[in-house]
Amino acid sequence: MVKRVYNFSPGPAMLPLPALEEAQRDLLALPGVGMSILEISHRSATFKGIIEAAEENLRRLLNIPDDFEVLFMQGGARLQFGMIPMNFLRGKDRPASYVVTGSWSKLACQEAQLVGQVHVAWDGKATNYDRVPSDDQLDIKPQSAYVYICSNETIGGVRFPREPETGGIPLVCDASSELLSRPVDMSRYGILYACAQKNLGPAGVTVVIIRKDFVEACPDDLPSMLSYKKFAAEKSLLNTPPVFAVYMVKLVTDWLIREFGDLKRVADYNEEKANLIYDVIDRCGGFYQVHAAPGSRSTMNIAFRLPTQELEKEFLKQAEARNLYNLQGHRSVGGCRASIYNAMPREGVVALRDFMLEFFEENRHRLA
Ligand SMILES: *Cc1c(COP(=O)(O)O)cnc(C)c1O
Repeated sequence: MVKRVYNFSPGPAMLPLPALEEAQRDLLALPGVGMSILEISHRSATFKGIIEAAEENLRRLLNIPDDFEVLFMQGGARLQFGMIPMNFLRGKDRPASYVVTGSWSKLACQEAQLVGQVHVAWDGKATNYDRVPSDDQLDIKPQSAYVYICSNETIGGVRFPREPETGGIPLVCDASSELLSRPVDMSRYGILYACAQKNLGPAGVTVVIIRKDFVEACPDDLPSMLSYKKFAAEKSLLNTPPVFAVYMVKLVTDWLIREFGDLKRVADYNEEKANLIYDVIDRCGGFYQVHAAPGSRSTMNIAFRLPTQELEKEFLKQAEARNLYNLQGHRSVGGCRASIYNAMPREGVVALRDFMLEFFEENRHRLA
């Protein structure tokens, strides 16, 4: 097999090897079908089986109750930023409350402001988006249609340790960089969504889990591709869906069920992996600085800095020499970031930890 490196990219990110191997096999011909997964009709019985199995896997892993629809949409997470307010705020005299904890929730908030009434329930700017709010810091408007959060801010590596209290108002949540990394309490959500290319599969599909009363509340005067109602009525087959991406979500969730069984075990594994890195950071006496405040640290994205930009450049270069790739931070903030989604094996995290310790030992005398 060709050499594979440890890819710490925030997305598109590493996929589980068994899922890639299965896809490689099916790329020429699906067993019993004689056509590639890239060639089959989205209306075929084969694809119907695939999309139903993907949904079934998601329902099982996330414990999704029957009063939710599971939709497979396109347009990435970004389309949801606009679609959510278009369906639930446009022309209404009630607001939604937005919790701004970093780049992605800020963008979602700005897009919603174009469409309807938005109330900012909390904004983390004062501490440079290094934490999530405590429940008593949230200023939620009681008549809000929903409370919007990004459960894991991919760029800052800041996450909610649990769902915030909203006084019974449903959460609408962008979980793009952490869906399937830990259990969730679905009863708290109106909408829970994630683009696939972080933790679920390749780019091209967005999983939208939406409560049926939200679907029913959608207006009838939206273009069909922007309407959850029309999408749900056609079971995600309003137009040609991203067949391959949906198929990969099925393979990735098959792997999770086979390998872990449930999300509690996935969460334990992720916690253990993330702590390998956080422990090193905490042990190196300030050489590595984590962006996220204690209590808000992500298990999926660890954003950190070194004492100087020169050392950061050196760090990234030497990391690649050890097969540790894509550790640079987001272009908007710089620094370093290790994204360690479900598919990043423990061995990859151990290799990164060992490298970080060695790099510290060799360069600690340069600590400013
Ligand atoms: C990557 C990401 C997005 C953007 O996803 P696209 O599919 O590129 O639109 C949005 N929100 C979060 C939390 C992300 O990690």
